[in-house]
Amino acid sequence: MVNKRILLAEELIKTCALDAFVFFHLPNIRYLSGFSGTDGVLVVVGGETGFLTDSRYTTQARQQVVADSVREYRVKIDGILEFLAEKGAVRVGFESDTLAYATVSELREKGGAYEWVPVSREVKSLRCLKDEPEIEVLEQAAALNAVCFEEILSEIRPGAREVDIALALEFALKHRGAEEKAFDFIVASGVRGALPHGVASSKTIAAGELVTVDFGCRLNGYHSDETVTLAVGEVSPRLREMHDVVLEAHDRAIDSVRPGAALRDIDAAARKYITDCGFGDYFGHGTGHGLGLEVHESPSVSPRADEEAREGMVFTIEPGIYIPDVGGVRIEDTVLVTAGGCRRLTRIPKGFRTLPV
Ligand code: ZN
Ligand code: ZN
Repeated sequence: MVNKRILLAEELIKTCALDAFVFFHLPNIRYLSGFSGTDGVLVVVGGETGFLTDSRYTTQARQQVVADSVREYRVKIDGILEFLAEKGAVRVGFESDTLAYATVSELREKGGAYEWVPVSREVKSLRCLKDEPEIEVLEQAAALNAVCFEEILSEIRPGAREVDIALALEFALKHRGAEEKAFDFIVASGVRGALPHGVASSKTIAAGELVTVDFGCRLNGYHSDETVTLAVGEVSPRLREMHDVVLEAHDRAIDSVRPGAALRDIDAAARKYITDCGFGDYFGHGTGHGLGLEVHESPSVSPRADEEAREGMVFTIEPGIYIPDVGGVRIEDTVLVTAGGCRRLTRIPKGFRTLPV
């Protein structure tokens, strides 16, 4: 299964008229070779793949990695240049979005014999179509979200601190097998809801507030990402309206997902509704992002997106309204693009929900 992915790397090499590609970015290395450690390089050249690492990881690599050879280096750059020299490459691609400038400079200095070609777009799309095993893990990670959220739901009540909700969720997720939390959870209540990235604080939740909980986990390297906004007791009509508008925008965006739909139009489906309802000034971020081995990856669903949705893409739909000094609402699901439209991977119901006080 992992082996077939090398064909994608070879396609990339062909598309960019390269002889070789050096992958440094760990999610790409994991995707292409199966290596889950934290240091190594994957070189693809002339139909051959070499995984290079140092002595700390050689044993792990020999067990995990699907590549033609696994080699040990003492100095990373030297190991790469040696491998390339053997294969007679000239034009060598690298990941221009993630590779440190210092490393690129060193490659160009020590490897002056090669033409080092920065590649961005083709690298971004490398992992954007998910295969069956990936979809399965993404679904499992999303299922964990639902179970754990239900488990801690009763703790979201007046008097609880945001940070306690975040901790309870993290504990529940790890207790049930998650490797790690996907990111620092956002638990934003009351006026803090107006902060789109309001990481859980020591603020106490009060009756009459909305609480936005944005969380997820990592399972076998893959992430879940989901946002729920709940009412703690009775909320004002204005807050209720904000929730209804975001929910409708979210539903419209999801309804517009199908192979061939411009990602920009999926964004517009949510944005136009929010704007038409008079809240356009309060929705500043893109509608969604790809999700997989990284929490944020290609594609992005935004007004600037220039790609189309394709079957197998997995991305979030997460419109929001954030009004300073009033509060905020965000509703987020992760969807898989299918032949006929899309399927929600995240499972927590998103309809308006009032928690007892
Ligand atoms: Zn999220
Ligand atoms: Zn997200």
